[in-house]
Amino acid sequence: MKSRLTATGVLVLAAWALPYGLGSYTIHVVNIALIYALLAIGMGLAMGVSGQINLAQVAFFGVGAYAVAILTTHYGHGFWLSVLLAVLATMVVGLLVGIPALRMQSHYLGIVTLGLALGFINWITNAHITGGADGISGIPVPTLPGVDLSSEYLYYYLEAVVFGLTLLFGLFVVHTSLGRRLRAMRDDPLAAGAMGAEIPFLRMTAFLLASLYGGLAGVLYSGLIRYVAPETFSIGNMFILLAMVVIGGRRSLVGCVVGAIGLTLIREWLSDFSTYAQLGYGVVVVLMVVFAPTGLAGVPARLRNLYERRRNRPSLRAELRPFTPYPPVEQPAAGRALLSVEAVTKQFRGLRALDDVTLTVHEGEIRGVVGPNGSGKTTLFNVISGFYRTTAGTVRFADNDTTAARPYTLSLAGLARTFQNLRLFGQLTVRENILVALDRSRTHVIWQYAVWQPGVLARERRLRDRADEILERYGLADFAEAAPSSLPYGIQRRIEIARAMAAQPRLLLLDEPAAGLNGEEVQQLIRIVRSIRDSGTTVVLIEHNMGLVMSLCEKVTVLSSGRVIAEGTPRTVVSAPEVIEAYLGDSDLSELGMETSGAAAQADRTKEATS
Ligand code: ADP
Ligand code: MG
Repeated sequence: MKSRLTATGVLVLAAWALPYGLGSYTIHVVNIALIYALLAIGMGLAMGVSGQINLAQVAFFGVGAYAVAILTTHYGHGFWLSVLLAVLATMVVGLLVGIPALRMQSHYLGIVTLGLALGFINWITNAHITGGADGISGIPVPTLPGVDLSSEYLYYYLEAVVFGLTLLFGLFVVHTSLGRRLRAMRDDPLAAGAMGAEIPFLRMTAFLLASLYGGLAGVLYSGLIRYVAPETFSIGNMFILLAMVVIGGRRSLVGCVVGAIGLTLIREWLSDFSTYAQLGYGVVVVLMVVFAPTGLAGVPARLRNLYERRRNRPSLRAELRPFTPYPPVEQPAAGRALLSVEAVTKQFRGLRALDDVTLTVHEGEIRGVVGPNGSGKTTLFNVISGFYRTTAGTVRFADNDTTAARPYTLSLAGLARTFQNLRLFGQLTVRENILVALDRSRTHVIWQYAVWQPGVLARERRLRDRADEILERYGLADFAEAAPSSLPYGIQRRIEIARAMAAQPRLLLLDEPAAGLNGEEVQQLIRIVRSIRDSGTTVVLIEHNMGLVMSLCEKVTVLSSGRVIAEGTPRTVVSAPEVIEAYLGDSDLSELGMETSGAAAQADRTKEATS
């Protein structure tokens, strides 16, 4: 912390002293570089942080610059009023560009945003109000009492202050609630939705942020050059901007800034060879994408990894501690129905994955769902948690019809789930994974970022305290700062349960939580699931390991080819003729009865047969 403060202090001093040593042309280049740095931060927020391909940044830049030019020269507004209106206009455009993101996958989004940028360039080149190919000149010098902003030296300080504040704001966003959700969405939009992140709104927010930075860059540009023309906002410049962000490292705002400033300087230096330089940037971008996809900003971490692997040193001297049970609560005597699936059918083209499935889960239950591979168990979870739409039938959760509800709505209503094939947020730390689920606020509270940052920080502190509690409870404290993918599989499974429980659900869906666990880990899992139920959360559990089902569940539902073929206590179900038949000829038969602790089930059955 202290070293970081010192470094910031040194940087601020250097930034303050910089103009003293520079010639008038060099300071001009520096001023341009800072404008590109702002643009790059906006790109980084949309592409690197939020995973939304945005090739319209150069258009946001243009909207900001042209709006100031038009408002000051055509309408005679003052510079600062025009700046305010221009930034707002850019953000409105940002929201409009973001609309396709509501429905579209990211590569299509690249094409759409590029198309919009081309449309904008076309418009400014041909429209009357934008001055056509000649552009608009005669933008007035911005006035500031006692400061002559026509001097590029003094303009530099204006830019430096705007740049410094907006970089801090960007870092603040990235490292608090909003940015964490954006990063979670980038890593795994499905899982983020299941944790309560309102994906469509978050995508729009990503474009809103990009346009804010684009607009600011545009207004600074118009005040600096006081002349705007189409070539500044060309696709060529969009490509350079992309190169800056890719080379610098799109996931790190500081990386984006370094890329932007570095490439602006190099570009200036190579200005006599601009055709070859363009080609050069192209080659460098391709090399970066192939060999260093995280850009320059990712190089230190890669070197550290390499070094640690060389030395063959385990990077974590840590252990998974035992789970501390939740304090139990009084169980309701006769639990009410919490979840009812009524005559649900799910059709995938020719395949009926669920066929007229009905089941009711009561509060306080641990329900098992078993069945051969491909019998529709995961599909059932996907339908319940809002990932799939039913073809027919209804789902009711907590007294509401949730058949058409979105995953985030269900999450906020108290439904949490894990996934058969782990879906942790790969680029987030274990603590951040927990924090994403802990954060129950809606996306619209981001107004706090604009007007009341202390509110954001206070919420952040509360969330972090609770995250520490959860990490302690699940014995994960040693791994709080680790990347989930660096951890053994058993630990990742435990993190997923901890993350789901962080959302304080009323109903927890576990999809094969014991898959890949060793015997000891399975025993721990049994304790965890029991404690979760005793703490008042109802559990539905898909499981292959029949021993686990036998020891945990009071009631089991058996699916086969999408139909419910039996329901009852584990013991009655296992001996039902329909169940035996469904598993016959299926390699799952062995899994049903004879996995690890399945031996107990086997013994039980033998006892039953002989008694
Ligand atoms: P289980 O979890 O019981 O092993 P699933 O629910 O994953 O089974 O799958 C049931 C059937 O539905 C399988 O035949 C699977 O191929 C099919 N299925 C699942 N999801 C999809 C999908 N998104 N598109 C097409 N078919 C699917
Ligand atoms: Mg499955």
